[in-house]
Amino acid sequence: MRYLLLLVVLLFSVVQHAQQKIYQAEEEKINNLVHTKLKVDFNFEKSQLNGEAWIVLTPHFYPTNKVVLDAKSFSIHEVKVNGTNADFNYTDDELTIELDKTYKKGEEYSIYVKYTAKPEEVKQKGSQAIHDAKGLYFIDPKEEDPTKPTQVWTQGETESNSCWFPTIDAPNQKTSQEIYMTVPDKFVTLSNGTLKSQTNNNNGTRTDYWRMDQKHAPYLFFIGAGEYSIVKDSWNDIDVDYYVEKEYESVAKDIFGNTPEMMTFFSNITGIKYPWDKYSQIVVRDYVSGAMENTTAVVHGEPAQQKKGQLIDNNEWEGTIAHELFHHWFGDLVTTESWANLTVNESFATYSVYLWFAHKYGKDKADAHMYSDVQTYLLSQSEDKDLVRFYYEDKEHMFDPVSYHKGNAILHMLRDYLGDEAFFQGLNLYLKDHMYGTAEAHDLRLALEKVSGRDLNWFFNQWYYGNGHIKLNVNYDYNTINRTVTVNINQQGKSFKVPLSIDIYEGTAGKITHEVWIDNKQNSFTFTYYRLPKLINVDAKHVLLAEITDKKSLDNYIYQYKNAAHYLDRRFAIEEISKHQQTSKEAFFTIIKALNDPYYELRVLALEKIDLFQKYNKKEAISKIEKLAQYDKSTLVKAAALGVLGKLVDPIYKPLFERGMQAESYAMIGSSLTSLYQIDKNSALNQVNALDTSVKENLAEAITMIYINEKDKTNLPFIARHVLKGMFLTQDQRTQQIYAEAFKWITESDNKEAITNLTDDFVNLGLKYKKYNFDKMAVNLLNQVIATQQKSGNSNKDELILILKTGMAKLIE
Ligand SMILES: [Zn+2]
Repeated sequence: MRYLLLLVVLLFSVVQHAQQKIYQAEEEKINNLVHTKLKVDFNFEKSQLNGEAWIVLTPHFYPTNKVVLDAKSFSIHEVKVNGTNADFNYTDDELTIELDKTYKKGEEYSIYVKYTAKPEEVKQKGSQAIHDAKGLYFIDPKEEDPTKPTQVWTQGETESNSCWFPTIDAPNQKTSQEIYMTVPDKFVTLSNGTLKSQTNNNNGTRTDYWRMDQKHAPYLFFIGAGEYSIVKDSWNDIDVDYYVEKEYESVAKDIFGNTPEMMTFFSNITGIKYPWDKYSQIVVRDYVSGAMENTTAVVHGEPAQQKKGQLIDNNEWEGTIAHELFHHWFGDLVTTESWANLTVNESFATYSVYLWFAHKYGKDKADAHMYSDVQTYLLSQSEDKDLVRFYYEDKEHMFDPVSYHKGNAILHMLRDYLGDEAFFQGLNLYLKDHMYGTAEAHDLRLALEKVSGRDLNWFFNQWYYGNGHIKLNVNYDYNTINRTVTVNINQQGKSFKVPLSIDIYEGTAGKITHEVWIDNKQNSFTFTYYRLPKLINVDAKHVLLAEITDKKSLDNYIYQYKNAAHYLDRRFAIEEISKHQQTSKEAFFTIIKALNDPYYELRVLALEKIDLFQKYNKKEAISKIEKLAQYDKSTLVKAAALGVLGKLVDPIYKPLFERGMQAESYAMIGSSLTSLYQIDKNSALNQVNALDTSVKENLAEAITMIYINEKDKTNLPFIARHVLKGMFLTQDQRTQQIYAEAFKWITESDNKEAITNLTDDFVNLGLKYKKYNFDKMAVNLLNQVIATQQKSGNSNKDELILILKTGMAKLIE
């Protein structure tokens, strides 16, 4: 699973700390699933599923005369054991069945259940976080909402598939499956495995028969139906399908088209050919998470469906596509035995994005991605959490920046320590030993130890069964008489044992790398030199999960930008050097050099940082920026360059901005618009009015800013639809400020449509991300708006307050 809305997770992760913790063992295996056959159809009027289930089971070890199935909020109509009516007891979430005799290990029996699943009545016990975990979702089932297609889809992880079929809903169970799904003719269907047949029922419905012979965990079962375009692709001789809404048919391959190449790459690095019989991806409306790795039937949320103008800039969803695919080895083929060991699913899926980016686009993009993941972990304040955690209140809390982002960085360290060959051979052994079964983190350790011959207890105890991360303070003592430098590395807080690389640069003499270990609070290493070092780079490979405080001079950073190769060396250097452009000519000229950095994100960074309002000669800089604006390979760089030229407020650039407005790239249109607005307001406003509505939605930031500047009250409703996302879903402070000002503006206004849009947005996002307590935040903010309105002189304030309170009621219920 890949979750969305990181900022919200971060804002509220603190809430989870206060909750009590309970020991969460692996589920005891009394009976094992063998095979599951289902026949289902849908009652769209009531949002219910009518089902029949045939389940084959066998005792795990000890003989038993009883089986307990998970079945949440069902009506049970009939239960049989081996074809004969059986006694059963049904509470609202468990079905206990008396078997016809005592069965021994290896002896199979068959359970038949006829039932109605009522997902709207699901009330899972334990936590408010999983109130919306109803397993089966009907989207606009009565076709009342013209803005939404009718869809049915399921979300099983963690234990919600038992909301639509009876099963033993635990990750340590595995079963093969067959599903007969009856749907209205106009719908296509998707499930796990292969579509074996389709039968027309001559009553406006059709029955599709899906079957998967390989076993997988119940939480990976999926059914979905709706009106979709199916865009066909392939890998070797298996089908690769993309299910998108008709409007996105023409861009489906721009979004998902790298999937076959990823399948080749992941098959190669794991040494295990993609092990399933097809691969489909489907985009669903109103999804409750980011994406989900249902075996061969992956679900993506709406943000996957991007417009051409976005895709030209950057396919924001490509990492998620890699993540879900890699789960087909780590998660689906070998499954975590318990949620406590979720790292063996999620840390690998997260790390696959690094591996794919490095393979496809080069190490810079991969390293940039890793840096952002590490920042997410650091911001989440989860230093007290072990990667493998047996104590937690709610299994949903395992899906956090520790299991994902920190686990990803830990795998990266492990790979560096073992070397590529041992690391990937170890993964291959782990997968082979546990395929179609389950595993825990110790199984990974044993496989890597077996291949490498190295003991890894110290590593796993520290990083898997321990918490926190490395915090280093670095300083240097030079002895110019003896020509030695002592590098002092002090660990703050907890002491970790780790290998560390130190690069010493002696100008033209080149670079010498020293490999050392630190395992004390105070660590000192003395090195001799011939010439006074230009730069000492601690953790030069940038593999440690660490916060490092290192006092470097401006000269060090300038040297670092020009000579140290790692993305982070260049990035940190640009950030530091850019602070000195007013006082150092060399600093300014190094930033000019960075405008031509080989990696596009660093060219963008240099453009964002360059200071054209100082005393040094800017001619070279401006000429470079003009070239970037017109000829760079990346539209994001072109867009950033257009933005910088806009700050010069020079009418000479008007034709350039007008041409930029004609680009396909949304980033270029957005920054051209903002720049044009600086020199010719009327022309910019005319251009805004001429834009297509869907383009406008994608340029919300640029347009909202113009509307705010114009104090254009007629456009408040537009602003109101974007203000929330701008305030909370961006990490850029300047953008946050712009939107915060717009928010204030709306709270004070008497514009009914704007207040309605704002309220709707709060309610939608609040309900959608209830899991992250977004509903509570929405209620707080709505209360603020109500208070402001009450104090205002608006003549219609009673009507507006009623709109706000009605929305709030939907969040509180
Ligand atoms: Zn995942």
